[in-house]
Amino acid sequence: MRAGSDEHDRTMVFAEIALGQIKALRQPADPLNYEIWYHYATGYNPLLNKTINEALERKGNLDAADLDAIRDQYIASSRLNQQIDTLGAKVADEIDHIMGMVGTAMGSASSYGATLANATRQIGRAKDGEGLRAIIEGLIRTTKEIERTNQLLEERLKASRQEIKELQERLDAVRQESLTDPLTSLANRKYFDQALAKALAEAEERNVPLSLALIDIDHFKTFNDTFGHLTGDQVLRLVGQCIKQNVKGQDTPARYGGEEFAVILPRTAVPQAVTVADHVRRAVMGKELIKRSTGESLGRITVSVGVAGWRRDDTAGSLIERADACLYAAKRGGRNRVVCDTDPGVAPARTKVA
Ligand code: GH3
Ligand code: MG
Ligand code: MG
Repeated sequence: MRAGSDEHDRTMVFAEIALGQIKALRQPADPLNYEIWYHYATGYNPLLNKTINEALERKGNLDAADLDAIRDQYIASSRLNQQIDTLGAKVADEIDHIMGMVGTAMGSASSYGATLANATRQIGRAKDGEGLRAIIEGLIRTTKEIERTNQLLEERLKASRQEIKELQERLDAVRQESLTDPLTSLANRKYFDQALAKALAEAEERNVPLSLALIDIDHFKTFNDTFGHLTGDQVLRLVGQCIKQNVKGQDTPARYGGEEFAVILPRTAVPQAVTVADHVRRAVMGKELIKRSTGESLGRITVSVGVAGWRRDDTAGSLIERADACLYAAKRGGRNRVVCDTDPGVAPARTKVA
């Protein structure tokens, strides 16, 4: 009882701080927000606190997108890590179990070997049929015993194999989850980083082209401010779908950041990548947004795209930077367009307007 009451006092302090923050910042007092502010109150995750403090210093409050990003980065990932740790411990237990069984099997096989050697010696010394019969009966008994042990071992190994198969499937699912953006189901930033490193290595090794497209929704802040963050999230899903539907299997579409997407196009030269990017742009522009709950039309949204092609000596950073410069040029040039870097140098080489 005492421990429970101590725990109550200790956690009430965190709960009060969390609610205090939600009140002071006039944020929705929903469980998702409460979880973030509770973590903040405990101070157990210094990086989470640092990110929140910096945002508070910078702009005095955190909007829904900031809170989403914090949840994705610090809370969802720590949950995944916990799951991976638990599954890892289970695999280790199962391996211990199997090693134990193998040890037992080796023990009984060697004692069976000794029994056989002993029997061989006794047969040599056996004087009559009665003596031989006793030796053979002994051998049959031992053989039956070892048969039973083997059968048991086989059953246990079968159960272990099933258990390990299930653990492997769960680990695969967790791994998959840790690389997927939950909102759009596209690859997340972590997967994007890995896929880009792989694509760069392939381009370098085989000297094949590689393109990168960065896609950013136009005036999304205004859209969010007008129609709300939840409707904004639906739009992010829609843009994600438009991208997925317009790229090929070898390409990796990803959610790069808040309202920015990226597509890695291996073995694709810039002109072809521009065509793909333009299909995406047209697909997004072609969708009339309808609010599900009311059927109200929210108009259309557009995207701007920057496309850069791999050049020898490019790093992931330099390729992204060039694609970003093209994206910036597309924004500056009026938005709803694709700009690429076919010409070396700063000025984007080609512009495709609606
Ligand atoms: P620009 O055409 O120059 O890109 O203008 P913009 O308003 O799209 O760009 P800005 O970078 O000023 O704003 C991006 C906005 O995207 C800010 C934020 O409201 C919104 N946003 C970012 N992440 C999310 C998210 O996960 N969900 C929702 N609904 N909105 C997000
Ligand atoms: Mg942006
Ligand atoms: Mg934008």
